[in-house]
Amino acid sequence: MREAEIKVRSTCPYCGVGCQIDMQIRENHITRVDAPFDVAPNYGRLCVKGRYGLDYTHHPSRLTYPLIRKDLGILPRKPVGLGGFRRASWEEALDLAAEKLAVIVQEHGGDALGAFCSAKATNEDNYLFQKFIRGVLRTNNIDHCARLCHAASVAGLQITLGSSAMSNSIAEMKDLEVLLVTGSNTSETHPVISTFLREAVVKNRARLIVIDPRRTEMSRFADFYLQLKPGTDVVMFQALAQVIVQDGLVDQEFLDARVEGLEEYLPTLEGYTPEYAEEICGVPAERIREAAHLYGEAGTAAIYWGMGISQSTHGTDNAISLANLALLTGNVGRPGTGVNPLRGQNNVQGCSDAGGLPNVFPGYQLVSDQEVREKFETHWGVSLNPQPGLTTMEMVDAAEQGIIQGYYVMGENPMMSEPDLHHARQVMANLGFVLYQDIFMNETGEYADVILPAVSFAEKAGTFTNSDRRVQLIRPAITPPGEARPDWVIIQELARRVEDKLGMIGSAGFAFEHPAEIWDEMAELTPPFQGISHGRLERESGVHWPCPSEDHPGTPYLFSESFPRGKGKLTPISYRSPAELPDEEYPLILSTGRVLYHWHGGTLTRRSKLDDIYPEALVEIHPRDAKGLGVSTGDRVSLRSRRGRIEVKALVSERSPIGTVFLPFHFAEAAANILTMDARDPHAKIPDYKVCAVVLEKL
Ligand code: SF4
Repeated sequence: MREAEIKVRSTCPYCGVGCQIDMQIRENHITRVDAPFDVAPNYGRLCVKGRYGLDYTHHPSRLTYPLIRKDLGILPRKPVGLGGFRRASWEEALDLAAEKLAVIVQEHGGDALGAFCSAKATNEDNYLFQKFIRGVLRTNNIDHCARLCHAASVAGLQITLGSSAMSNSIAEMKDLEVLLVTGSNTSETHPVISTFLREAVVKNRARLIVIDPRRTEMSRFADFYLQLKPGTDVVMFQALAQVIVQDGLVDQEFLDARVEGLEEYLPTLEGYTPEYAEEICGVPAERIREAAHLYGEAGTAAIYWGMGISQSTHGTDNAISLANLALLTGNVGRPGTGVNPLRGQNNVQGCSDAGGLPNVFPGYQLVSDQEVREKFETHWGVSLNPQPGLTTMEMVDAAEQGIIQGYYVMGENPMMSEPDLHHARQVMANLGFVLYQDIFMNETGEYADVILPAVSFAEKAGTFTNSDRRVQLIRPAITPPGEARPDWVIIQELARRVEDKLGMIGSAGFAFEHPAEIWDEMAELTPPFQGISHGRLERESGVHWPCPSEDHPGTPYLFSESFPRGKGKLTPISYRSPAELPDEEYPLILSTGRVLYHWHGGTLTRRSKLDDIYPEALVEIHPRDAKGLGVSTGDRVSLRSRRGRIEVKALVSERSPIGTVFLPFHFAEAAANILTMDARDPHAKIPDYKVCAVVLEKL
């Protein structure tokens, strides 16, 4: 007899919109996905990934039992597929992993380890992971892909406001007068948010400014589309600010009451006239003036941006200059108004919130703050390392220098996401020990010594926090394949073993029986989460942090009374040109990014039916460049930079500006990061994935 179909409410595992989904389950399969119409943040809307892309959970290549490398201990380690591993029991694999980690700690100290937590895993998984890394291994060398997507937004907003999250909820978009979208291909990267933005424009007559080198779909709805040259964002934003000041569009009352730094800031705008911006950005001065007036005269305006702003060697300056615009015009701290970095992965906000960063405990409490540290030491019963750890790319540097001896990678794929991949892979090949924990084999797993099979979002309980700070539940809907276990269970098993080997039995506490208990411990130590519990989320579907007490309603928009740093700070910045510009040998700019049908390193979407729709990498090239090179759509071409070379098919399109080619970064066989460079933003240490020089040749 066929099993009856059941419905399980959960949260989409792809992007930071955090859409609520109803999965129909029959015979342990997800047979259909719908969206509830009465629940935020998506109110019945889903994109193609959420509706049709969850079949990866049933893919036959799921990791189902632990694996140990056959040629264990031989360096340099070769990247090998599953055939290079042998099956192991959980006992053997965990014992071996614990032994290797403990030996590194005993011989070289905890700082000889680097740990990657996961923006795809739950808040509870990540809290426990950082507790293990900090409390047992005694290092703060923990980071994740937020470093590679929005670290610059975090740095810039911390400097100006003292808080780095989106300041507004998605629901507030529809009531705004003016929307400014920059560096975001919203229709493809945050599709459901783009529908709310378009609704605001089409139905509610909001005015839209789009600032982007690439002619994205959002530009078709814009009153002002400012197509600036790649890497010139700071000049554009400074020029908008200059017009706002020059033409008396500042909100003086707001500046007097809530902002500091005006005197030092104003003189730094002087040179940034719209005429200068026209020279650098290639946008007519008059259009810049008009756009500045539109934003500056709005009663309610908000800014939204994506990785086009943050993945840059001047990403922090970009975020600062956007926050400066909001402060000058008082467009922050009221419903709808604010500054909103659209976060990428499903739980990249939550992974950072849960302490998956090298300098902070959960809730952005500094590891260098003695009082904070003592709080965690008392609760966990351990002494903690006061030294902030290394970022992802600094870990690569430290590994190259022999300072880092081992990696623990949970649910990340740095061997696709790091820039200058040839270099990063060479470093990985020489590490003393690599522990890899995921649901599929991928480019990072190929370098592992031990592989631990985890379960997917549909097979476990926990919470994700979406881009607008809304904490939402995921629920187990199907049983996991083979012997795969939830990340939090694996971490506990491993932590207890390492504690045992280091002679610190039971000290940090790894005896949780359900993710709800893990959340409760994190909330107890993290004031903004103290009013949230799994029980409350069952009743209310989602709560925006900060939520300091059970009777607090949560906070859809931030900064109504004050900023976390006290007053908002207008911050002077100046323009620096990109780290690598085209020249005779490498005459084109390469920009990388996402397409609608795929997700990040492709580990999930390339194992879903979405891959049938978009099965290979296509490099987008403007018709005029294509004509000069004799290239047509479908031709195979080579793309070469100073770091490496790949082969792809061409797609001739006016979306990319003349002189710039665009390449999606989801495809291992044509990995965009073979070409990118590791030049970094000096504050945020984020690499530049949007501007490097390449040459394109027809094959
Ligand atoms: Fe999932 Fe994002 Fe699409 Fe919503 S917009 S269905 S969260 S991928």
